Amino acid sequence: MAATVPDGGRVEIVLIYQSLLGIYGDRGNAAVLAKRLAWRGFDAVVTTVEPGDRLPDSGHVYLLGGGEDAAQITAVRELRADGALHRARDRGAVVFAVCAGYQIIGNSFTVGDRDEVIEGLGLLDVTTTRGPVRAVGEILTRWRGRGGDEAMITGFENHGGYTVVGPDAEPLADVEVGVGNCADGTEGAVHGTVLGTYPHGPVLVRNPALADHVLELALGRELAPLSRPEIAELRRQRLTAARRTSR
Ligand code: GLN
Repeated sequence: MAATVPDGGRVEIVLIYQSLLGIYGDRGNAAVLAKRLAWRGFDAVVTTVEPGDRLPDSGHVYLLGGGEDAAQITAVRELRADGALHRARDRGAVVFAVCAGYQIIGNSFTVGDRDEVIEGLGLLDVTTTRGPVRAVGEILTRWRGRGGDEAMITGFENHGGYTVVGPDAEPLADVEVGVGNCADGTEGAVHGTVLGTYPHGPVLVRNPALADHVLELALGRELAPLSRPEIAELRRQRLTAARRTSR
């Protein structure tokens, strides 16, 4: 369990390898976490790390985004050599990974025409292989264990890999529109403070309750709700668009 961060305390968000895992705009997840912390009076810092630099051991949240297969292979090798994500998990920091990042933190994923198996970081018990069709489009899921409108997670998925959740992890959500993990009706996975999910959007921008959940896990405390009409309106629009989509 991470030490609880006091009011006004410093919170470090580590944004990993934008040069490799930056093409889907998931860096917005770092921006929204920092903003939601700042609105509540915390001293939020975003540290951006590129391959060749060591990841800091001081982070509260470590963010991985989507990327192409070749970049994904480079990223997993660099991260394994670095070792900081395992230490982060062990001290209760949050690892929040999207799409390629989700596949990277799992047991393994496959790439290329010959479906070469690449070993993942093994932080989450999920395994990814190439699916029958590329999953592309709006995705709408229902977050497990949550009720009401805030349980609905919207985003945009774009992945060829399909992911099976093993016994040491739980699906994050159940799919209402789209593909998610592997057309078994589940989306994403969670174990402790490690979370993986497919939606871009960025997903924490579109889904503030999920953003606050990540922060509460990382800070080891509950946060007061924020009322931001502009975010509620964005969310309403995205939910309507996703519900209109039939794929
Ligand atoms: N390269 C991976 C796939 O196609 C991840 C894609 C992504 O990050 N959007 O499955």
